[in-house]
Amino acid sequence: MHSRRQTRAITVRNLQIGGGAPVSVQSMAKCPTTDIDGVLEQTRAMASAGCDIVRVAVPDEAAVRALKTIVKESPIPVVADIHFDFRLALGSIAAGVDAVRINPGNMKRDAHLRAVADAALAAGIPIRIGINSGSLERSLLKKYGGPTADAMAESALSCAEKFERWGFTNIKLSLKSHDVQQTVAAYRKVADACDYPLHLGITATGSGLEATLKSAIGIGALLLDGIGDTIRVSLSSSPVDEVEVGVAIVKLLGLRPHGVEFVACPTCGRCKVDLLSYLPAVKERLSGLDADITVAVMGCVVNGPGEAKQADIGIAFSDDDVASLFRKGKRYASGPAREMLEQLVNDARRLGRTR
Ligand code: SF4
Repeated sequence: MHSRRQTRAITVRNLQIGGGAPVSVQSMAKCPTTDIDGVLEQTRAMASAGCDIVRVAVPDEAAVRALKTIVKESPIPVVADIHFDFRLALGSIAAGVDAVRINPGNMKRDAHLRAVADAALAAGIPIRIGINSGSLERSLLKKYGGPTADAMAESALSCAEKFERWGFTNIKLSLKSHDVQQTVAAYRKVADACDYPLHLGITATGSGLEATLKSAIGIGALLLDGIGDTIRVSLSSSPVDEVEVGVAIVKLLGLRPHGVEFVACPTCGRCKVDLLSYLPAVKERLSGLDADITVAVMGCVVNGPGEAKQADIGIAFSDDDVASLFRKGKRYASGPAREMLEQLVNDARRLGRTR
């Protein structure tokens, strides 16, 4: 992985984004913001799943009125998502939100943008300049012949430049499209052109495996480049599903403590044991272990001993229902497969408690 891109730090309530802070995970509440109990219930569930920031839609004055209680009771920072009407941003800031997101594609007048920047400056909160390929300024669509990565980058950077001219630099940027390659290209351009922290996401991905993969590929590619300070996985699914995928992405890239990480072979015709049922059983039994360790569960002598030696602890099966256990690169026990599996679980728990 490339070293992390050096970015300015911004603070959303008590959470630092950028400036070397851990990559945070965020999501959106999916019930009407006027349903205060519903928003708070979703937010608490998201926070329990590892979410660092919640964003809520603010489409009207009724939503603005709900914000005060939501902000007061939310366990994590609250961002108001504003489109079209700058007065909703001003109302949200007055209600005490921790940040606002605006979309320069639908908030076009400089006087309106400046009013929001001035209010955010006075309140000491950041603004996300959130570009979507589906709502770019007409002038940019014309200039670039469509919602290209260049058009998205210019939209974000020209809005940031305006804010800078008005003395406001408490900014993060996002540039989302449903197209993975276009999104990645847009973020890379902006990453080269400024040092503002970046909020990563692929938008309108849909649901299921394809949607999850789109986010994992797009966000993962950028994070591997060292680009990205906070992420949101967009799924046509529950916010907790979004958070779980987001947390998995940052954990698997080593950007957050990963807990128990399993290294397991896919099995093939050489495998003589029922690894496909052993693995979920081991996972289940180690699910409560709160420690960063890797546990290898490997099917045969081809790659088993090698992978198991590289893990913190591992088991490699061989023919005739026999297995060996490995720790710190060395084989330390051999015996019947079921006995060795039992010992693996007990030894992994013991190892986890020492971490
Ligand atoms: S470790 Fe052995 S059983 Fe597992 S996939 Fe490789 S060759 Fe097949």
